[in-house]
Amino acid sequence: GLTYDIAIIGGGAAGLSTAASILKRKPGITVAIVEPSGSHYYQPGWTLVGGGVFKQSQTRRAEKKLIPAGADWIQAAATGFDPDGRIVHLSNGSSVRYSILIVATGIMLDWDAIEGLPEALGRNGVTSNYRYDLAPYTWQMVQTLGRGNAVFTQPPMPIKCAGAPQKAMYLACDAWRRRGISDNINVSFHTATPGLFGVKDYVPALMEYIERYHIDLQLKSNLVAVDGARQVATFSNVGADGATTKSEVEFAMLHVVPPQRAPDVIRNSPLAGADGFVAVDPATLRHVKYDDVFALGDVAGTSNAKTAAAVRKQAPIVAVNALAALEGRPMVADYDGYGACPLTVERGKIVLAEFAYGGKLEPTLPKWLLDGRRPTHLAWLLKEYVMPLLYWDGMLKGRELMVEPRPLCGKS
Ligand code: FAD
Repeated sequence: GLTYDIAIIGGGAAGLSTAASILKRKPGITVAIVEPSGSHYYQPGWTLVGGGVFKQSQTRRAEKKLIPAGADWIQAAATGFDPDGRIVHLSNGSSVRYSILIVATGIMLDWDAIEGLPEALGRNGVTSNYRYDLAPYTWQMVQTLGRGNAVFTQPPMPIKCAGAPQKAMYLACDAWRRRGISDNINVSFHTATPGLFGVKDYVPALMEYIERYHIDLQLKSNLVAVDGARQVATFSNVGADGATTKSEVEFAMLHVVPPQRAPDVIRNSPLAGADGFVAVDPATLRHVKYDDVFALGDVAGTSNAKTAAAVRKQAPIVAVNALAALEGRPMVADYDGYGACPLTVERGKIVLAEFAYGGKLEPTLPKWLLDGRRPTHLAWLLKEYVMPLLYWDGMLKGRELMVEPRPLCGKS
């Protein structure tokens, strides 16, 4: 196997941004990006594909074109971690040795956990914005549905972009209103969570839309099976008395968000914490046990919202801390848990949730310009026009606008 100063596992939003940031700060060191996929996806765009705003192709680019100059792309998957031997084993039979390891493999979508789902997807109205190939089918269903039950689901936490299950629903409801057929469609939202959104400041604005669209809100209701041919979804519901009951719901359209968990290769490695994600310090993002290992993005075992917005802040922090570790210096920057979730409540309006660890609100813009707790057109313009630019030409290139790594306060 080859030896690198820094090996980055996963060339998604987090891996690419961190590699670019590191090489900007210290050109000349050796960096490997281990990534099996030939394509990279701008997943935040899939909500707008499902809402008929973006074309599918706008959300995909060749991985090769995104690998920053100076990094080696190893097109393989990590199959095992040996942090004591400082070695990562790969699917192509080879391995990489490193001085510093950065884990950025993302979260795993567990489609198989719902009985009948894998074979049901893509037909009979069963769709999901959580897959590149299916997001266009969501919009096709929204446009062609004339009547019946439209059912939207959300699995237990943790999931990436916890607002995305609702976003798909609100955009669909808005399209049906504009077509004047909302009276013919019964919309229900079944979420396994006990509340509509994890940060309470945003719930009132969202509840207004639940009422406006006459959505039947079912909390603690978890999708467990799908029968595509019969168009029946089965839910496991926890009642007020704590008892669990099953219910069957007929649908004409079913938008599913699958349960999500740490990838098996992480879960089964010495890097995993009790929840299966990489056990890192929530501030420095350094592994709690291995000083030469860092993690960021969806695979990090931290309590922030798993979003690309979080990655934008984490990448420069991991870059400066990993370089410090490489040079044997103490940690220099810490992460406050910032994440953001632009909730597309109607076409042209967004409730822009921005918050840090503990649900503390952390708006980027001053409140007089943009109050994230209310639906605004400005937030929609940011989502449609600014955020894709910030992603492709900002964070993935290591151009860090408004994300200076925060100096470490107190601890090291
Ligand atoms: P990813 O970008 O998923 O990348 C992980 C990479 O690791 C992949 O390229 C994968 O191929 C690779 N990998 C996996 N296993 C291995 C292995 N064993 N070895 C090597 N490589 C491996 N975020 C927002 O900020 N705003 C939004 O509005 C938003 N909306 C979203 C809507 C949807 C429908 C979805 C699905 C996501 C949304 N997100 C949003 C979340 C955002 O896309 C993720 O949080 C972000 O992509 C996380 O980056 P990551 O690098 O950790 O994971």
